[in-house]
Amino acid sequence: MLRLLRTSIVYRSAFFVLGIALLVGIFFAVLSYHFSAQSEQKLANQRTQASLSTIENTAGIACFVLDQNLAAELARGLLKNGDISRVQIVSEGKVLAEAGKPGQGATGQSALTILQGINSSNQLVHAIHSPFNPKEKVCDIYLELNLDFIREQSTTKARFIVYLLLLQALAMASAVVYVVHTMITRPIKNISDRLHKLAPESGEKLQLPDGSEKDEIGQLVRDVNTLVASLLTTLDDERALRIKHAIGEKKFQTIFENAETGIFQLNFSGELLSYNPAFIRMFGLKDIPGADGYSNALTSLLEGQELRLHLMIDAAINEAKVMSDDFYVQLASPSGKKWVNLVISPADDGVLQGLANDITASRLREESANQLAVTDHLTGLNNRLGFEKEIARLAKEHAGGNAHGFFLLMIDLDKFKQVNDTHGHTVGDQVLIHFANLVANTVRKSDFVARLGGDEFIILLKNLTNLTKAEEIAQKIIAQVCQPIEITDDLSVQIGASIGVSYTGPNDFNPDELVEQADAAMYQVKRSGRNAYRVVDLDIYNPSQTTGSA
Ligand code: GH3
Ligand code: MG
Repeated sequence: MLRLLRTSIVYRSAFFVLGIALLVGIFFAVLSYHFSAQSEQKLANQRTQASLSTIENTAGIACFVLDQNLAAELARGLLKNGDISRVQIVSEGKVLAEAGKPGQGATGQSALTILQGINSSNQLVHAIHSPFNPKEKVCDIYLELNLDFIREQSTTKARFIVYLLLLQALAMASAVVYVVHTMITRPIKNISDRLHKLAPESGEKLQLPDGSEKDEIGQLVRDVNTLVASLLTTLDDERALRIKHAIGEKKFQTIFENAETGIFQLNFSGELLSYNPAFIRMFGLKDIPGADGYSNALTSLLEGQELRLHLMIDAAINEAKVMSDDFYVQLASPSGKKWVNLVISPADDGVLQGLANDITASRLREESANQLAVTDHLTGLNNRLGFEKEIARLAKEHAGGNAHGFFLLMIDLDKFKQVNDTHGHTVGDQVLIHFANLVANTVRKSDFVARLGGDEFIILLKNLTNLTKAEEIAQKIIAQVCQPIEITDDLSVQIGASIGVSYTGPNDFNPDELVEQADAAMYQVKRSGRNAYRVVDLDIYNPSQTTGSA
């Protein structure tokens, strides 16, 4: 029952209508009972008065002559009125006649006592006067009204009204059930059934129920159709978007899987979050699903360069820009050493995305091109450019405050032109190569040797503050350079070398001055006979301006 009330509008509305009708019915039944009881009593009084007035004359005679039989006849006659339950005709204190309906109490003297003693609303006393003298009272007629009868009458009327009201309530409830069912729930149920079978993808719409085109049901159907259409559009859009997204994702997945570029994600601490197969190949890692095993791979691969990596990460995060830098990676065999270019840019919250490109080949090409640019092709020593770069590097080192003092030896071969002129350019070349080897074998590996051009060479004796040591080297070169050089079995040539020596301390590096001083010293040697060395006037070795020769 409760379920029906909850699930059915028809039952619910019928229940409420019936309930309300019953309450109203009960209220009106009580009212009508009350009023009909009052009116019934009034009517009973009227009927009793009417009965009394019809027997009034005869009763006057009966009382006047004290005719008990006639009085009894009159009492029984009055008793025929259903509203009267007992009658007493009393003359001069004596009961002349008495009659009562069965079960309505005693008769005779005792009854008189009762009637006279009771002064209630159901009792009537009517005085009878002499037929000859209307002013002379001859007896009283005591009547007791039949309240049960009167009550029954009014109850019957009230019950009838209640029945009518109940009937009306039932009729109302049935009407409500019918109306609600036919006009509301059935159309709604039909709409619901059609909605279940509706195929909106094919453009199908709900039909408007006949006769409901302009009412609320019609409006509901139109609203549902509008809603379905808009939902369909939204669904179509969403589906298209999902397909587009899936295609995009697939494309990215394919690129991610097949790219030759290493693609990876990092957190702000430089830990790897994900990477593609190319990244694994590039860094010689084993293909482990997920990044857990390699979270620290990048930082350990870039050992010694982590600071640069973290600077890149910080810049990418703080400046929100793409950062790029080259890193050197020492891999386990067989890959060996590699150069990789890392590009890092901020992606999602707390995540950076990166690209890794193997630039080893181009880096080696670049290195060899750079090397070529600074190498003298004849002797294999550094050339003038190499020297200039080295001087620039040293200048930086000195500016940084972490440099050491060193000696510069400017060398020019003596009478070299003659070799060329006498034996040809090729022999001259061989002499130059011989001298280059001689110098390279005389100085330490950490020293720097360059051929500036022609027969002019330069040596930087690095991290050296000991003049004696520098002089020893200059001396050694001079001693060796003047030894005959065997070109062929039949040909040997002899040259000499003039050397100017200058020095710079750790804090007073002036490249131009250093070169100029050595150059000047070297020319002084030339002027003073060649094949010797000369140390420029050095404050630190004051006042010595030493000259030496072989
Ligand atoms: P000095 O003693 O005053 O130094 O005179 P020198 O004969 O050594 O002549 P100088 O230093 O003035 O000139 C060097 C010569 O070296 C000039 C040039 O012909 C020659 N030369 C320059 N480059 C090369 C080269 O690559 N190969 C050869 N064989 N000779 C060169
Ligand atoms: Mg020369």
